[in-house]
Amino acid sequence: MNRFQIRITIFFIAIATSIAVVWLDASANRGAVKDARGATAGNDEYLEPIVPSPQSSSASQPAKRNELLRTDLNWTFGSKQQRGWYLYTPLINRLIDTKHEPASRRFASALARWQKKSGHMPSGVLDDETLYKMIVEWQGRRIKDRTPAQPGQLLTAPISDFYDPTRAEELRSVERNTYAAYKRMVAAAVAERSLGLARNPKRPRGELAAGEKYLKIISAFRSRAYQEKLRRESPNSGTAGLAVNSPHFTGRALDLYVGGDPVDTRDSNRAIQVQTRVYLWLVRNAERFGFRPYFYEPWHWEYVGKGAVARP
Ligand SMILES: [Zn+2]
Repeated sequence: MNRFQIRITIFFIAIATSIAVVWLDASANRGAVKDARGATAGNDEYLEPIVPSPQSSSASQPAKRNELLRTDLNWTFGSKQQRGWYLYTPLINRLIDTKHEPASRRFASALARWQKKSGHMPSGVLDDETLYKMIVEWQGRRIKDRTPAQPGQLLTAPISDFYDPTRAEELRSVERNTYAAYKRMVAAAVAERSLGLARNPKRPRGELAAGEKYLKIISAFRSRAYQEKLRRESPNSGTAGLAVNSPHFTGRALDLYVGGDPVDTRDSNRAIQVQTRVYLWLVRNAERFGFRPYFYEPWHWEYVGKGAVARP
């Protein structure tokens, strides 16, 4: 190799080295961009794991769905748009036999057991399909025969049993067996000291004090004529409001004071009612006395009779 050849060789090595350096640099930059994307993806994964740990996947997802659907599920009842099922949590808990919060895994497990027993996909998620199934079950437990009470089946309850101390005598009729069951139920509620109900000291058998509002009767037997009058006064009440064929005709439906505005279906009012101790006690105990709820109205309880109810 002569001097010229050596120079040429050095020249080409220098060029090759420069190209290599530029290429390596560019590659390093591409790597940096890639790393940055990787970091972004990594953050998303941190917020919402794509591959969750085995314990948190199947078990916690229904609980998270329930936490959301509890307030956000869109459904309809009586042609009225409804949002969430939080107002029915006490009734749902009783139906699926759990004391756990809707956002808990144990609630989801109890719900899945109920779904399986009722012939559904046991998803553990309280979606609209499951809610409608629950409503069918609740509604199916109510009074079916709405034949109006005959005068001989009714008695006039004393004014002390009523929420409105000026309620007219003709509006204080109650079916006889229903009234007896109501009085037994009130005696049990008064004896339950944790409810804090004011009792009438003059009565050895548990009775509510005159000043106590809880569990007093707001409305009992209604004649067709009286129901029509109520409907005329409240023309906007749909099927979820004042029924044309009301169970109150039988004298076996009682509207009882459970808190808040006595008979107001607004969600904000019902949210107050379903949290009162008295309402929660009714949900757990009314059936022992033959009373069953109307899920949509926390105050409305129907006497279905002892025959249909297992003794405690
Ligand atoms: Zn009612």
